[in-house]
Amino acid sequence: MNQQIVSNSIREFSQYNRVLEGNNIYVEKKMAIYYQYFKKLSTGQTPKYLLIGCSDSRAPPNELTETDPGEIFIHRNIANLVIPTDLNLNCVIQYAVEHLNIHSIIVMGHTCCGGIKAAMAQDSVGGLLDLWLNQIKIVYEKNQELIESLENENDKLDCLSQLNVRAQVMNIWKNPIIQKSWQKGNPIMVHGWLFRVETGYIEELLIDSQTPEEMNKVFALKFKLDSERILSKQTTPLGSPKNNARKKFQSMQKQIIQHIKKQKENAGGFQKTNDLQQIREYVQNCQEL
Ligand SMILES: [Zn+2]
Repeated sequence: MNQQIVSNSIREFSQYNRVLEGNNIYVEKKMAIYYQYFKKLSTGQTPKYLLIGCSDSRAPPNELTETDPGEIFIHRNIANLVIPTDLNLNCVIQYAVEHLNIHSIIVMGHTCCGGIKAAMAQDSVGGLLDLWLNQIKIVYEKNQELIESLENENDKLDCLSQLNVRAQVMNIWKNPIIQKSWQKGNPIMVHGWLFRVETGYIEELLIDSQTPEEMNKVFALKFKLDSERILSKQTTPLGSPKNNARKKFQSMQKQIIQHIKKQKENAGGFQKTNDLQQIREYVQNCQEL
């Protein structure tokens, strides 16, 4: 028995060493391509995306998207949940939006997710885990009829994985940091992805609401932005340059939303890169006016 424990420990220790040796190989490979790679990496990061994914070891965002370190700001937890009171996640969102100026947030779920499977079962997996998975159970309960109408167990799990991503995307839209960013004229886009572990492909999910303005008014917040505070303190006559600037800003917001809706109708989906570029240029032009 003791001998068995010793040989198991030796085997596990060599596997652990293999992981560290892998880092040496990684560094050599990168430096063989570009000698200054890590020196350049140490100068800072300018990621354009925040990805909220599952902690599952089979869903590594950079590997799946052929992106390099520095390209995606990443937060991972069990079953890629966006819980409104999660301090950790909210700090990540705030830093990504207000300091890194990311332009897209992606919620990436995946098939064969242990968290989704556990949430569909009735067996307890432990106090804290049960509490965490309760968020998925809420999605399950809301869509119970649809999910249970499916015959195949895997289809049921895939269905809940997709619905869970949609629900988390909606939680992002409800987030005050994101809503404020939109009202300040920085239209951050939110996308839902499903990574299929069995094929390796990522599917982009069509989400009903593409902008915060389409969200239920119950959650829609109105912020008193700094520029508005200054304007309201002064008795600005109608037609003054400051009032005109505010009107121009509001008109800009409307045009962005119309543009996104039109693109969605025309393309059956959102052509992200080009459209966002156009929107950003448009916002910049408006702000310069
Ligand atoms: Zn998972």
